[in-house]
This record gives sequence, structure tokens and C-alpha cells, in this order.
Amino acid sequence: MSSKEIDLHSELKKYFGFSKFKGLQEQVIKSVVANENTFVIMPTGGGKSLCYQLPALIKDGTAIIVSPLIALMKNQVDAIRGISKEEGIAHVLNSSLNKTEVKRVKEDIKNGVTKLLYVAPESLTKEEHVEFLRTVTITFMAVDEAHCISEWGHDFRPEYRNLRHIIKRIGDNIPIVGLTATATPKVQEDILKSLDITNATTFKASFNRPNLYYEIRPKTKNVDADIIRFVKQNEGKSGIIYCLSRKRVEELAQVLQVNGIKAVPYHAGLDPKTRVKHQDMFLMEDTDVVVATIAFGMGIDKPDVRFVIHHDMPKSIESYYQETGRAGRDGGEGHCLAYYAYKDIEKLEKFMSGKPVAEQEIGQALLQEVVAFAESSISRRKFILHYFGEEFDNATGEGGDMDDNVRHPKKQHEAQNEVSI
Ligand code: ADP
Ligand code: MG
Repeated sequence: MSSKEIDLHSELKKYFGFSKFKGLQEQVIKSVVANENTFVIMPTGGGKSLCYQLPALIKDGTAIIVSPLIALMKNQVDAIRGISKEEGIAHVLNSSLNKTEVKRVKEDIKNGVTKLLYVAPESLTKEEHVEFLRTVTITFMAVDEAHCISEWGHDFRPEYRNLRHIIKRIGDNIPIVGLTATATPKVQEDILKSLDITNATTFKASFNRPNLYYEIRPKTKNVDADIIRFVKQNEGKSGIIYCLSRKRVEELAQVLQVNGIKAVPYHAGLDPKTRVKHQDMFLMEDTDVVVATIAFGMGIDKPDVRFVIHHDMPKSIESYYQETGRAGRDGGEGHCLAYYAYKDIEKLEKFMSGKPVAEQEIGQALLQEVVAFAESSISRRKFILHYFGEEFDNATGEGGDMDDNVRHPKKQHEAQNEVSI
């Protein structure tokens, strides 16, 4: 089947009901359909899933989709099943399945029913699975969240390192599609090398979020009062406030509540029931603000988050970008306000002190970028985009005046010299 013979737009409409491709999707899909190794770098929400889902649905055989999170895999499988009468069209293969279920999955693959097989990398280390997959038609292997392969990524998973080896065992010429939302040039290089697809056709979307306003304020002892003022000025709007520690989350949520602000805490130390309740309250707008650790946000798709506040600086520019990226998903206003004190960076350094030296070195380098970013007097947007290997011209680029340094130019290191707590 060549891509020329297939009308991708009608396939898109047929399976997903969309009438247009988003961004680079069509080019990516053509590359995947043509069995090329393909590397896709698109920000979160860019529509990466469709880049492998549609080719998988079109092709004869089964595509293997590697993904790190069981919850995300389940969501996708349910969504795909929803567009087909055939339940077996998508399956998950993981350790939670019993023998009968595994048998059913394998039957469906053998019979050519299953177009997408979602696997966690651990499942692929099982000999019996690998042996089985060698005997069936694999169309391609998509590695979602491919940054997990890199120690320089924000979510390194050692199991991802074995993928290349396993793919080779399953088949010699299986095309590979790597996808990620967090690709600094360093992570990109790691992904391509580790998957052994340095010949891949690379598609990189812009990471610019023109509707987000970036601002960094020096963190003084009045930070809580400052946050209260900010939230009150934005009454009725949804926002997320990130803190480093669970303790701080609890304290700040309380301070906000006492000040008449609808706020709830969220962190991994809360029991699952409370977590779900607080998350639902946010989605249903029963609360305006969630004060949270980074445990909050993965997979949260609330389009009208109007502000993201960092009470403490995150541990890397990628984290900052991901977390602020939860604001303004609908294209509307999104104010990203972060409080910076060098002391907080030292705290983050201390957290790393128990870790292996190599990991500490990487952590330090990432933190130094955060410091440079916070203390810089150049455009925040320009800085972030440069970090992602993208040149940005504030005079002509979209959102070029949407940050504090551009709007209110200040002397370099002014922020650094303020009193910090
Ligand atoms: P990513 O994995 O890049 O973060 P997703 O694949 O989860 O993004 O897609 C984000 C959203 O965009 C989903 O709600 C998806 O349904 C939607 N989407 C993807 N492609 C299109 C399209 N061509 N037209 C409209 N919506 C799309
Ligand atoms: Mg995704």
C-alpha cells in the first residue's frame, strides 16, 4: 500500500471524525505509512497519538505501541475501541492480564484483527511475548514518550534502553516511530542513538505558546501575600499553584482558604480518594485553585486554566515548560508566574545529594539552566525556545511581547539581588 493510493483525509474523517490534520500530522503520517523511521517532536496536546494511530489503522498487521503509563494506554485503547465495532482492534499487553486474556490478545493479533497493541516496555522483556511477536506481522513500532530513554529527559526509565535490542529480535526491518514532547537537542540525540534511528525523518513542531505570558518575580518573605493578591485579582479563574513539598502545599492551600479563596491541596501523600475528589473539584469548577506538587497534572486536560504559579522553581526548564503549559490550552489567556530565590535552587541540589554522581551532574546542569533562565534579562520566550533548539525573533514571532522582560526591561541580575527567604 503506498501513501499515494490512500486518501488520508478520508481515513482521518472515517476513523476520528476530524476534517483537518493538526500541524505536521499529515507529513508525519505519510512518513510512517511509507515505512520510514520517523521522529516526532511536538508539544503536549499537539496530537502525537494520531501520528501512529491512523497509520496503524490503515495498515495490514499490528503496530506495537510502547508507552510508559498503564493509565494512558487504557485511555487510548478505550478511545480506539470506541471508533470500531471490533473490540479486538486495540489491546493492551501487560502484567495485569491473566492467561486467558493473554490468549485472547494473541488470537486477535494472529487473526489480523488487532491493529494497535499497547505494551509497557517491561512486558516486552518477557521471552514468550517476544517469541510470539516474531511470528506475526508487525507494521511498525511506535515509542511514545520517547524521552524516557534519555537520562537527560525528565522521566528516565531504564527499561526503555532495551527497546532497540528487543525490536531487533522481533523483526529485522521493523520501522520505528519515536515521539516526544520534551526534546532538547541533547535528548533528541539520545533518542535517535538509543533507538538506532539516526536516519529517521524528523518532524519538529514549534514549541512556542504565544498566548502564555511568562513572569518571574523575586521570592521574598511576602510570597504568600503576593500570591493571595494575584489570585484575588483573578477571581473566579482556574489556576494551579505548584510547590516543591507536600508540607508547603498543605500550608499554602490553608492560607488561601483562610483568605476566602476556593483552594484545595493535591499531592501524592493524600489518600487516593481525596486526590480524585480534589482533581474532580478542579475539573468541575467547585474549586478555583489547586495547590499541588508535581504529582498533579499528568493527563489533566482542563482547557481553561488561566494561571500557573510556581511557588518554587522547578528542577529543569522542561518541567517549567510542561507545568506552565497546562495554562491556556484553549488558546485563551494563560499567566505563568514563578517565584525565584537562589536558596530554592540550593534546596533542590540538596535533594539530589543521595543520588549517583552521574545523575547529580545531570541534575546540576539542568538546575543551572533554571538559574540562568530566572536571572536572565532577555525575553523568557526567547530563552525557552532557544533551550528547545528553536530561534525566536521577538519582533516578528507570535507572542513576542508576552513576558516580563520584554514588557518591563530591567537591569541584569536585579532579581538575584532582592531579599530572598
Ligand atoms: P499529544 O500526545 O501530542 O500530547 P494527543 O495525541 O493526546 O496529543 O492529542 C491531543 C488532542 O488533540 C486530543 O484531544 C486529540 O483528540 C486532538 N486531536 C488530535 N488530532 C486532531 C485533529 N487532526 N483535529 C482535531 N483534534 C485533534
Ligand atoms: Mg501523547
